[in-house]
Amino acid sequence: MKKTIRDIELKGKKAVCRVDFNVPQDKETGAITDDTRIRAAVPTIEYLLRNGAAVILMSHLGRPKDGPDMKYSLAPVAARLEEILGTPVRFISSPVVVDDAVRKAAKELKAGEVLLLENVRFVPEETKNGEAFAKELASLGDLFVNDAFGSAHRAHSSTAGIAAFLPAVSGFLMEKEVRFLGDAVENPERPFVAILGGAKIGDKIPVIENLLNKVDTLIVGGGMAFTFLKAKGYEIGKSLVDDEKIELAKELLAKAREKNVRFLLPVDVVMADEFANDSPSAVYDANAMDPNRMGLDIGPATIRLFRGALQEAKTVVWNGPMGVFEMDNFAKGTNKIAEALAESKAVTIIGGGDSAAAVKKAGLSDKMTHISTGGGASLEFLEGKGLPGVDCLMD
Ligand code: ADP
Ligand code: MG
Repeated sequence: MKKTIRDIELKGKKAVCRVDFNVPQDKETGAITDDTRIRAAVPTIEYLLRNGAAVILMSHLGRPKDGPDMKYSLAPVAARLEEILGTPVRFISSPVVVDDAVRKAAKELKAGEVLLLENVRFVPEETKNGEAFAKELASLGDLFVNDAFGSAHRAHSSTAGIAAFLPAVSGFLMEKEVRFLGDAVENPERPFVAILGGAKIGDKIPVIENLLNKVDTLIVGGGMAFTFLKAKGYEIGKSLVDDEKIELAKELLAKAREKNVRFLLPVDVVMADEFANDSPSAVYDANAMDPNRMGLDIGPATIRLFRGALQEAKTVVWNGPMGVFEMDNFAKGTNKIAEALAESKAVTIIGGGDSAAAVKKAGLSDKMTHISTGGGASLEFLEGKGLPGVDCLMD
């Protein structure tokens, strides 16, 4: 078990806290269009303040290319955080993140006060896990709190390197992610069913490889399914496919048989002429697809098959939509699977940005046990990889 902010003395301490304030912004005005991530960090911040700590916050925002770029300043975040917390947030916009003014402000910061640093990615060393920058960040406080699960799969100065110089614990968001994803992979209540879909086939195939050692049933839908259907020798028309992964797909199908894992693929698909919502479409059996059309959703028989497999499940992990859910005419498969999970008594865990968006769009977010905030991080976790931002925390 990793230590959390509950397991460490906070009174009179300065907590250097890595949060995820990487919020979406309006391209023209820079206004924050969704402050969910800021709100999500509040329980950890308030707990630290209530227990007598001073809080120094750091985050990245966007991907500034070559050093400081004011387009990616955390200034708007500071203002919004102040509104949400109802307490002043000191913000110092330094192009090098830590300068004399910041050091002075950190030194003078009192219990119950909040200081926000500038975008850590203004320093090019950050993403290289530069030791000097990690040390600089660490020198501002007495302990490191990591609450940025979404960045935990990257070894950066502010997510992992800093832990070499300070006692390191997790915040509440991080704790929750590690508990749900960790339990799902290590001690799932069975039957354990994983559903994979979406479009990032190359990224997700390694996840399948690991999940085959853990699950009772593996369901593959969405754009991913066609690579497997092609591996089985089916015509897939103009559907999304990763031809370099066909051999691996064959191996995975064989491995599933060997391990007695039930591997479910679509038995029918909705195919359209073009990648467009109003394109004419029809349902085809998976073994009789139209060579001139593309598959954009799972069909009705597949929905029944997948829902049936979910009925007995005690643990379900879902990553990747079942179709092009952004287009209403191809959203049915994704919505029906989301409904099945919402109705299920199983522990339901959603990973992946688009999957989380699909569940939100269906209005079912609060019916799920856990929706992971980290797309890439949750995938790497399910892949069985250690995450630098988690491994660096104290046991
Ligand atoms: P997540 O963000 O949940 O990890 P991905 O990023 O892998 O999921 O994939 C999401 C994308 O996959 C969506 O934009 C969706 O439109 C697309 N997608 C799903 N099914 C298909 C399909 N059959 N053909 C093409 N794209 C698809
Ligand atoms: Mg995505």
